[in-house]
Amino acid sequence: MQLISIVIIGGGPAGLMAAEILAARGLVVTVYDAKPTVGRKFLMAGAHGGLNLTHSEPLDSFIPRYAEAAEHLSGALKAFTPDLLRAWCHGLGQETFVGTSGRVFPVGMQSKDLLRAWFKRLSDLGVHFALKHRWSGWNENGHLLFVGPDGQDVEVSAEATLLALGGASWPTTGSDGSWYEILESENIALSPLRPANCGFEVPWSPYISHRFAGQPLKPVMVTFAERSLQGEIMITEKGMEGSVIYALSGAMRKALEVEGKATLTLDLRMGLSHEELVERLHAPRRALSFSNYLRKAGGLSPLAIALLREAIPSEKLPINDIEALAALIKALPIIVTNTATLARAISTAGGVKFEALDDFFMLRRKPGVFVAGEMMDWDAPTGGYLLQGCFSTAVAAAQGILNHLEK
Ligand SMILES: Cc1cc2nc3c(=O)[nH]c(=O)nc-3n(C[C@H](O)[C@H](O)[C@H](O)COP(=O)(O)OP(=O)(O)OC[C@H]3O[C@@H](n4cnc5c(N)ncnc54)[C@H](O)[C@@H]3O)c2cc1C
Repeated sequence: MQLISIVIIGGGPAGLMAAEILAARGLVVTVYDAKPTVGRKFLMAGAHGGLNLTHSEPLDSFIPRYAEAAEHLSGALKAFTPDLLRAWCHGLGQETFVGTSGRVFPVGMQSKDLLRAWFKRLSDLGVHFALKHRWSGWNENGHLLFVGPDGQDVEVSAEATLLALGGASWPTTGSDGSWYEILESENIALSPLRPANCGFEVPWSPYISHRFAGQPLKPVMVTFAERSLQGEIMITEKGMEGSVIYALSGAMRKALEVEGKATLTLDLRMGLSHEELVERLHAPRRALSFSNYLRKAGGLSPLAIALLREAIPSEKLPINDIEALAALIKALPIIVTNTATLARAISTAGGVKFEALDDFFMLRRKPGVFVAGEMMDWDAPTGGYLLQGCFSTAVAAAQGILNHLEK
């Protein structure tokens, strides 16, 4: 049996941040991860539209983004603020900038340079890595159990443990939610894992699925529950996804839970007012087919036309009523029937409930075992709130470990 002081399980941003803090305090820290390399989801975050590290809005607007979890996270967010996260990033040689929407990105937009510099710092601090070690729980002596690289059992005793195992989306990155059953068997209070910042299923006809899957609809304004957002959406084989959909996903998910379906509206011609569109649609149709008329007079893309035809049965399409036609183009109802699979979501809602944790995120039922990052029961929109939540909870848990060791 190896004797190791601090064990961190999970080498995502939360685990690595805690490892840095604890190693800097002279503790012997080992990061265990099931995968052959760490930070896989963090790398993925940078690969999709740039690494949105945090958000520049003031803390009193920032904290409520975590909705019901805000009261439990506010201490951690105030102790390790977005400004401190940016300063940390600058300390690793990665300057940051504030984008037009207030989102904060590293200048290089990617996570790989940041991760490389971070990894060097962790190595300089003497952090050990035990990769290809899958955590499988505790034995009767309270020792941690892992399945090692060759399938062998590995038993480890720790003075303190941090679980930073992530959510359950994009399981190929290592975050597969397999910890859920382990903690459930230990009677830790958990909220079921659900997709968040996710796509949604729409029962498309085979025509839309086959012809338009993978195509963006842009620019478009999406409205749900009186909230309208502009941007683009991506049509998938079974529905749609994209940043605008993710931003509305919390409210849509709740509506689905209550009503079993959610109806959002798409403005397919957002550059024009209703009146301007009506004026254009008054252009003589001559021998044009209805689709060609919509394309030429209305300026609609083939995808927008297909969605209009998909949403409204042909016998109900107001072909000769230009006012009604324009109204549909400006607010086309699309019925969403389900969330897309958790595997494709940007983040995971649910996880370890706050009632199971003390103020520094130690499991009440397991003294010396702390939790940080996305595996906790909080959820936030995209915009940098996810990573900030992971970093801030990791800093708080690291402080909790230091307090625990002092006792
Ligand atoms: C496509 C995409 C883009 C994103 N973009 C952004 C963005 O721009 N901004 C933002 O704020 N957030 C973004 N996110 C979300 C963000 O990446 C995550 O919230 C964050 O990585 C979670 O960090 P974590 O440390 O809690 O867990 P993770 O990063 O998920 O790391 C968990 C680690 O635990 C390991 N592990 C799991 N189970 C075991 C086990 N049983 N034994 C051993 N090891 C195990 C995994 O291998 C993994 O390395 C994005 C997510 C995705 C999927």
